[in-house]
Amino acid sequence: MIHLQLQGALHNFPQAPLGIFPTPLQPLLRLGESIGCPELYIKRDDLTGLAMGGNKTRTLEFLLGEALSRGAETIITSGAPQSNLCCLTAAACARLGLKCILIHNAEQPNSMTGNLFLNHLLGAELRFVGDVDEHQREAIVAETAEVLGDRAFAVRNGGSTPLGALGYVQGAVELQEQVTRRGIDLEHVVIVGAMAGTASGFVAGNALMGSPFRTHVISVEYSEEVLRGLLEEYSGAVMDLLKMEPAGPLFEGVQIYDEFLGEGYGMANQPTLDAALRVARTEGFFCETVYVAKTISGLIGLIERGDIPSGEAVCTWHTGGHPALFTQADLFPQ
Ligand SMILES: *Cc1c(COP(=O)(O)O)cnc(C)c1O
Repeated sequence: MIHLQLQGALHNFPQAPLGIFPTPLQPLLRLGESIGCPELYIKRDDLTGLAMGGNKTRTLEFLLGEALSRGAETIITSGAPQSNLCCLTAAACARLGLKCILIHNAEQPNSMTGNLFLNHLLGAELRFVGDVDEHQREAIVAETAEVLGDRAFAVRNGGSTPLGALGYVQGAVELQEQVTRRGIDLEHVVIVGAMAGTASGFVAGNALMGSPFRTHVISVEYSEEVLRGLLEEYSGAVMDLLKMEPAGPLFEGVQIYDEFLGEGYGMANQPTLDAALRVARTEGFFCETVYVAKTISGLIGLIERGDIPSGEAVCTWHTGGHPALFTQADLFPQ
């Protein structure tokens, strides 16, 4: 019942049709066996069907839905040259017939690899603003939008906004429907936490469905404390947007871990590299190191430590990012 109400609330927001949903929910038999987790699944949001896939497809359906409803003709967003959000925004703009301006906080590199190369293929206008921090970068986005006026729409903060987070409220509903239909008694979900749009949407959606899943958020960017603050802020704002209240506590069954972060954001430690190799060699698909392999290293760690009891069903979320892998070859000694 609550699902219908939740779906109704989500449908009040305009959505740009960008992806192919539901994404596959796939058992990981060989990986599961090798790590002592017989019932392991992955939600393949690397197969969202836009460009080379990824979580930002869900985010952008809501953000660009809003942009289109306001009559926007140009979308501006920003990120590092290998930002997956930038590439998916460029692809979405191509699909929707919008102009795309990408603000990269780096000097123009000599060679265009990974996402940057794809951004070029997708016809985005790339602006390299040098080595500025995230706040300065956001300020440049705001200025650029202001100069362009009404017809411009800015995707801010890596897409991690309450509106963007609705994508993973919908993702939570989608997962719940899949496991119900297939008779899977799913207990645990392991999901990435960077700027927290993805995880906060999932946490909010799960809470609004009565918390069917225990959520384990693996930080790949911030400390546990900072990530918790972001999750609380966004998932609270998601409730306000949807004008709904969970029956129980919002953070019931939610655990946040920062001990798999290693030396920090984007720094691939040995467990991260091991996870990428293990997934490729047992399951035949890829995980880049910044987000996905690090999250799976967390999943493996939680099972090894017994935080997730062996025998209980677990699902992790593949959030995509494949193009970045082509810039990461040197991390894997041959
Ligand atoms: C952006 C991104 C994430 C992190 O999502 P947040 O909403 O910022 O926490 C994870 N994986 C991939 C591949 C991404 O591009």
